[in-house]
Amino acid sequence: MQEGLILLDLHVHSTASDGSQTPQEIVRKAHEIGLDAISITDHDTIAAVAPAQSAAPEGLQVFPGLEISTELDGSEVHILGYFIDCSNTALTEKLAVVRNSRVERARVITEKLNALGVSLDYTEVQQQAGSGSVGRPHIAQALVANGTCQNQQEAFSRFLRRGRPAYVPRYRLTPGKGIELIEQAGGLSVIAHPGICGSDAIVQKILEIGVGGIEAYHTRHTKTDSERYVKMARDRGLMITGGSDSHGPGGPIPVEIGSVQIPEWVGPELLEWAENNNAFITA
Ligand code: AMP
Ligand code: ZN
Ligand code: FE
Ligand code: FE
Repeated sequence: MQEGLILLDLHVHSTASDGSQTPQEIVRKAHEIGLDAISITDHDTIAAVAPAQSAAPEGLQVFPGLEISTELDGSEVHILGYFIDCSNTALTEKLAVVRNSRVERARVITEKLNALGVSLDYTEVQQQAGSGSVGRPHIAQALVANGTCQNQQEAFSRFLRRGRPAYVPRYRLTPGKGIELIEQAGGLSVIAHPGICGSDAIVQKILEIGVGGIEAYHTRHTKTDSERYVKMARDRGLMITGGSDSHGPGGPIPVEIGSVQIPEWVGPELLEWAENNNAFITA
């Protein structure tokens, strides 16, 4: 077991999805503030993993990771995956399908906005997304850039949120499929921010499906939430993770990398899992 893997942030988004910082900027920042390990967990893509690992300085580990968007009973459920084999084709091919469907969806949202009298061209959305996995935050950014909305929050509450007139659901992967994709790529599946995924009934269902861990520590969890999820994980012998879910300073709600306090046993326990399961720790 590796010593000294204490300060972690295992949930960060980069420009490969809807974060505002490049993988290189994230690695630099994480090292600057003294983190021992991070994982960049972009929505439905592992594109940031290799560039982040190449840029990682001595003393900072970058675990392969991603966050798969799934849906269960009408609730949005995010499944984090760690220590995956990034060359696993079943995983990379399915992720490509999911990302392509995101492009289609963003086009339909743009058309809905146009029908509502909002002037927006898909190229404006593309400009925000760059080469990354396109999501509603990019549409919100485009609406702010062209003066339709004051800020991204307004774009979500007027148009983009579930129940608002330009809302379009994503391609629906089930949580079971997300977990399976991660596990067949040798990774650890973890239910992301269970405190904000609808209800504990949903969380229970995900546990029954067979997720491997719980993200007990998260920006939007209270101390009581974290304690409850730690106990839930311990009772079932599941792994425990945590992270800030930072989308960078330009994100919808600015959250700093490393801003969530994670107990010192989390890192060593995860590394032990990875070693016991012969998983991919660095590449
Ligand atoms: P998507 O995966 O395209 O459905 O976009 C989901 C992302 O949009 C989330 O990860 C958040 O970053 C952001 N988001 C979702 N709901 C809101 C909201 N009400 N206000 C601001 N950002 C939001
Ligand atoms: Zn996001
Ligand atoms: Fe999430
Ligand atoms: Fe996230």
